[in-house]
Amino acid sequence: MKTFPMFIDLADRTVAIVGGGEQAAQKARLLLKTEADLALIAPELDDELSGLVRKGRARHVSAVSDRETLSEARIVFVCTGCAGADAAIAAEAKSLGKLVNVVDRPDLCDLITPAIVDRDPLVVAIGTEGAAPVLARQVKTRLEEMLEPRLGDLVSLAGRLRDAVARRISKDKRRVFWRWVFNEAPRRMFASGREQEAARLLKAAIEAGGPEAPEVEQKGLVSLVGSGPGSADLMTLRGVQRLQEADIIFYDRLVDPGVLELARRDAERVFVGKRHGSALEWPQSRINGVIVAAAREGKRVVRLKSGDPLVFGRAAEEAAACEAAEVDWEVVPGVTAALAAAAEARLFPTDRGATRHLVLTTGASPEGAAEPDLAGMARPGVTLAVYMGVRSSAETQANLLRQGAPEDAPVTIVEGAESRGGRRLHGALGELSDLVKREGVKSPAMVFIQWPDPQRAAFAAERLAAS
Ligand code: SAH
Repeated sequence: MKTFPMFIDLADRTVAIVGGGEQAAQKARLLLKTEADLALIAPELDDELSGLVRKGRARHVSAVSDRETLSEARIVFVCTGCAGADAAIAAEAKSLGKLVNVVDRPDLCDLITPAIVDRDPLVVAIGTEGAAPVLARQVKTRLEEMLEPRLGDLVSLAGRLRDAVARRISKDKRRVFWRWVFNEAPRRMFASGREQEAARLLKAAIEAGGPEAPEVEQKGLVSLVGSGPGSADLMTLRGVQRLQEADIIFYDRLVDPGVLELARRDAERVFVGKRHGSALEWPQSRINGVIVAAAREGKRVVRLKSGDPLVFGRAAEEAAACEAAEVDWEVVPGVTAALAAAAEARLFPTDRGATRHLVLTTGASPEGAAEPDLAGMARPGVTLAVYMGVRSSAETQANLLRQGAPEDAPVTIVEGAESRGGRRLHGALGELSDLVKREGVKSPAMVFIQWPDPQRAAFAAERLAAS
């Protein structure tokens, strides 16, 4: 980080804007959101800025530059519209020890104005250090969608009630209370314009020492959350929400660090990854034990797994452990590796023409034996998506050929889908294991074998020709 994000208290402090045209007006519009004393330094002001002065929202200092106003300012914006003047005034302000923002001159700036999502008092500032303003705007648009317009009013109300909450609600229940405020009925009511009803509900809950609704009792919950195949932007919104609410997160080896960044900052993070052949430190039974124990303490537990928790993710064992301990659990789906890899390789696992069935299978058996039992699953019209299929590729190849799959059935291997340095390899079933060896394919990788249905393919070709 070259620049560090901070919020500056500008209430009743002077902010100098040097310039009287459109650029100065843009800065003024932004700063009108604050309670700053706006000093517009310019020989002349345009209509918009003069209007502000008439309304008493800003004052006019009639000069090209004014040392006195600059020295009393907390921060200085320079936007005269003339590059030479801008540089000179910026130098003068800096010599007075001021932090300066100069329009369109990042090299002269001590301060960069971020893109802002304003739900005052909730304010989100987005910056890219000037590297990608378009991206900053995209992020802003997403946040604007996420944060409903009236949210600021709810945040203000929360601020006004903080003392009352501190007095009446015991410390251990406070987080649950605020979670309820921002996740449940009060937020929904505010969003739909029932502010007064929401305020009454909130006050009643404070009076009663906490919200009454059973849904907000401090009850532990284990969420088995799919983090997708790698990139954080393939997480579901629900998954992100669970990360934001989590007290503790147990995560796997293939989970992208970017996903953990989405978690509440003070959520505890525990790595429980299993490396191939060294599952000793975190055997499944130990993982089951720790997630259940945390939930029993009333914690919100996220068990974060790569891809989708239900696909070769041992979700069944963890859910069973929760059931046995009478702990609530849920599954939050994620994008499974097969589908992310197919998307990346532009492979169509089902295709009306040639493949009508998609089989998700694995090259690793629970006993550790390599050879998967593919009998009956492989036949014309099937796409096999083999998880953990690198080590057993020779067996898979032999197995399928034995069942009559054609040597030239297309094979696609996607190594490290959604990650930097990922690869896509194409070949035929007859050379699957050679391909794996020759290219030194490493885990994690998805192996696809497509056994097209010749009849359907012919039918599709005819249909295409006819159309
Ligand atoms: N629950 C996960 C699968 C876990 S098993 C899911 O739904 O995706 C681990 C196997 O998934 C790996 O051996 C590999 O075959 C596959 N896999 C996981 N992430 C992958 C990635 N980024 N690229 C390719 N394959 C991946």
